[in-house]
Amino acid sequence: MIDAATLLSDLIRIDTTNPPGREREAVELVGSTLADNDIAFGTYAKDPGRPSLVARVAGEGTAPPLLVQGHLDVVGVTGQRWDRDPFSGEIVDGWVWGRGALDMKGPIVMMLDALVRARQGHPPAGDIILCLVPDEESGGSLGAGFLVSEHPELFEGVAYALGEFGGFPFVFDDVRFSPIQISERVGVEFHVTFRGDPGHASMPQPGGAMAKLGRALVNLDRKHLPVHLTAPTRLMLEAMSPHVSPPTRFALRGLLDDRTAPATVAALRSRLGRMENLFRNTATPTIVRGGDKVNVIPAEVMLTLDGRMLPGMDPLTMRDELADLLDVECDISFSTERSGIPAEPDMGLFDLLASAVLRMDPGLVPIPYMIPAITDARWFSKLGIRCYGFTPMPLPADFAFEATVHGANERIPVSALRPGSDAYLDVFQRYGRTSHT
Ligand SMILES: [Zn+2]
Repeated sequence: MIDAATLLSDLIRIDTTNPPGREREAVELVGSTLADNDIAFGTYAKDPGRPSLVARVAGEGTAPPLLVQGHLDVVGVTGQRWDRDPFSGEIVDGWVWGRGALDMKGPIVMMLDALVRARQGHPPAGDIILCLVPDEESGGSLGAGFLVSEHPELFEGVAYALGEFGGFPFVFDDVRFSPIQISERVGVEFHVTFRGDPGHASMPQPGGAMAKLGRALVNLDRKHLPVHLTAPTRLMLEAMSPHVSPPTRFALRGLLDDRTAPATVAALRSRLGRMENLFRNTATPTIVRGGDKVNVIPAEVMLTLDGRMLPGMDPLTMRDELADLLDVECDISFSTERSGIPAEPDMGLFDLLASAVLRMDPGLVPIPYMIPAITDARWFSKLGIRCYGFTPMPLPADFAFEATVHGANERIPVSALRPGSDAYLDVFQRYGRTSHT
């Protein structure tokens, strides 16, 4: 048995802020919990201070193994104002407080609790593999990336994986939707170089490298890249439609038509909020480099953009879109890792996950969802594993999930831990036994 709230609180107290990560102590704590419950595991590390843990509970062998994966590192809290110490793991008024409570030590504790119960009960149809990794918040090359390239044998035969993210409160048109992640965007780093005549700064030269940078930054702030309707977002809108009010349904229909989608996205901007990022590539300026002497006009200024590209798109196409938007003379180069995120999502596990959500809370409406960010799913996808973000968390509808993940006052209700664990166990027990899989 696991005391989920205490284990979560203990995990939060182990500060795994990445960088530097230092996830080893957290892996040791999980390892001792597994050992106490007779579950075999191994650890694998590129950096000895930052191991991954892979545990396995044997199934009957009548279905392929199911992978459940999560990351033990967390993002930092620099500059944030918290009402409680973010690494105290305090339990106050029924909430476990601290960095990682949602992203994703809380869900990891639910996975662990479900795994222990799966081990004690009737064996699942397929093996359940629990994989906990370091380094997700800094790209994952030491964790999921390392495992996928150096230890692919650990995942042999795995068809599906569950990881972050989903199950957070998403209220739209007064309907409580429960997103299940079926896809994500792809990271692309853009480097833009602006050139101009160098010279003595006592004699200004209008239109130089700095002026071009300025025009580009203003355009990035004011304009948007083109709207594209992708398969995952189409599936999401179609799933939402029957549940919303007639006027909203009409608006969603506008989003579903390529001809009317751009105008509809613009018209619905305030209601869509962050969902707008599901309809286009985005490029956010984050680093500027240029000039090293106060009296010398620089010949070159460089701008770095954090690009997030819709799945299935070609980075060359995104570069052309960006060039159009910047609308100023410049050179654009980019780097992107080969991502395994397919353009067409697989929906083979969706009905099973959706039914587990409904058993947890019949008032929720499960919908497929593409997150605008990137996760370790892209590493596991390289092995052909179809990844879902499934972190069932019954949170209050008014809880500011997106503001607290990576923000201040991250916390989770103690009362969410058991239903979340029940939902995982429900999936473990039914995976491979129903027509859904
Ligand atoms: Zn995360």
